[in-house]
Amino acid sequence: MVDSSGEGRRGGKAVQLAESGCVKKYVFSPSGRELWTVVGSRGDLLVDDALPYCSCRHFHFRVIGGMDVTCVHLMALTVARARGLYKEFKLSDEEYRQLLGFILNDFSSSL
Ligand SMILES: [Zn+2]
Repeated sequence: MVDSSGEGRRGGKAVQLAESGCVKKYVFSPSGRELWTVVGSRGDLLVDDALPYCSCRHFHFRVIGGMDVTCVHLMALTVARARGLYKEFKLSDEEYRQLLGFILNDFSSSL
């Protein structure tokens, strides 16, 4: 069922993101810490559906601002997890800060 309110379109976009391999899971060892990213139009975004959190503009301005409940990246993460569509990478704990720094740098330069 597709509606015209935007929710259906966004759902389609989320599925498309998941199916095109945009959702990535990083597992760090030896801590076992996990980090998820979704490739957005401006690079990798940090996503966490437990919080929930996404580092995209939409999440920061619309969701945190109370005008929306989620963003397409968090929806893509849910779809990818449910259908096993994500790519998994194994990194060492030393690389955690590096990856995080890289993503956050990318994020601040997109604002
Ligand atoms: Zn997002």
